[in-house]
Amino acid sequence: MVNTFELHLINAALPLLEEKKLFELKAAGGRWISIRKQEQPGELQEQQGGPIATLSTLSDGRDLSGCRIDLEGRMLLPGLVDAHMHLDKAYSLSAAPNQSGTLYEAIHSYSRVAPMFTKEQIKARMRKAALRALSFGTTAIRSHIDFHLRTGAEVAMRTVQAALELKEELSGQVALEFFPMCPYNSHTLLEQDAIHEALQLGLDGLGGAPHLSETPERDIDRIFELAARYGKPIDLHADESDDPTKRTAAYIAEKTIAYGFQGCVTVDHLCSLSAMDEEAAASVIRSMADAKLQAVTLPACNLYLQGRGDRGLIRRGTTRIKELLEAGIPLATASDNIQDPFHPFGRGDLAQIGQLTAYAAHMGSPQELRTLLRMMTDIPASILGLKEYGIAEGHPVNFVIMDALTVDEWFAEQPAGRWVYNNRRWLSVTRTEHHMGWVSDPEQHATQASGVQNKK
Ligand SMILES: [Zn+2]
Repeated sequence: MVNTFELHLINAALPLLEEKKLFELKAAGGRWISIRKQEQPGELQEQQGGPIATLSTLSDGRDLSGCRIDLEGRMLLPGLVDAHMHLDKAYSLSAAPNQSGTLYEAIHSYSRVAPMFTKEQIKARMRKAALRALSFGTTAIRSHIDFHLRTGAEVAMRTVQAALELKEELSGQVALEFFPMCPYNSHTLLEQDAIHEALQLGLDGLGGAPHLSETPERDIDRIFELAARYGKPIDLHADESDDPTKRTAAYIAEKTIAYGFQGCVTVDHLCSLSAMDEEAAASVIRSMADAKLQAVTLPACNLYLQGRGDRGLIRRGTTRIKELLEAGIPLATASDNIQDPFHPFGRGDLAQIGQLTAYAAHMGSPQELRTLLRMMTDIPASILGLKEYGIAEGHPVNFVIMDALTVDEWFAEQPAGRWVYNNRRWLSVTRTEHHMGWVSDPEQHATQASGVQNKK
């Protein structure tokens, strides 16, 4: 009997829905039409027939239409969401080195070379970074982009054009949002006109790094005025500094309430929170919670860039991750920069970022690993305002299968195998020599294995 579903998966683990159970999922017309818990591992609705294929068959490039695909207990997650990248800067390290490893030199090194990149060069680097992230299972990205007005509006618009063209090109594969980094210490009419033009062209919101300004409050005022005028969300780099007196997050919270922008403002980095004493940090976090600010931690860049002035006990540089979570602030973890003067490493793989976050914030318990998983799935999805996100009946089919049976195994092993599906097609399939998952925990999975094998 031929399987008539567009997609039919069996023996899938859905850790965000319910752990230690396997599911059968069916899709038609690009949406999930049935998600059913299997009574027994390997137990199938035989009457719906169709040959059974495995992911290794898919990796071999064979057409599996009409087949039931047996995930053999592997994890299926909604496409991961990277809430903070800089696609336009990715892979620019060779052109823009950073000898000191400081944020200061990174900013100046990139600013020096930015006017020399053509639109096509910028777009090629952005495409490479976005597709690499897609291959690891990320199907939605918010990217900040440079807006270098000091070297002329044409330079700033070059990056904007590259970004918008790429957004169109990759639509249906990876959803891209772009936020221009509004220049600081600059309040000219030229700037207002350029931002107006960029937003009219289709940029998604307003960004910036007001803590770097000599007049941060004035910069923040101006960004809120623009956001209110154009009806756009705000996403700001905030207090990316070891200096405990940097507290733009508290002022941003104040403005958020004044403008009624609760739920539309995101603050990223927040490194100075860790440098403050307990009382001061608690006060800033309270004001953030009152204003319903959303936040993003970026451990890879901050571990690399911060603490450069320290000797001996060198600080980690990341924000107060656990305190923000305890205060109920929606906190995502994200990639930030990829192989550029801000961060010489990174590949756009949120599994790597998740593990780095776990190290940086001392998060290793089973419960904490599940929180980390949410910090790269449903929490950033809500920050990006993604509609119908997640594995649920009626939602669009958008997922990544990980080559691991459990959340704990995935964080520990960081398996290479990923199978990414979006917009009614397989977009990326990783060929793996073996999958370690099925035999990694014989005691826990003996029942599963025998159940599935009996059906083969
Ligand atoms: Zn950033």
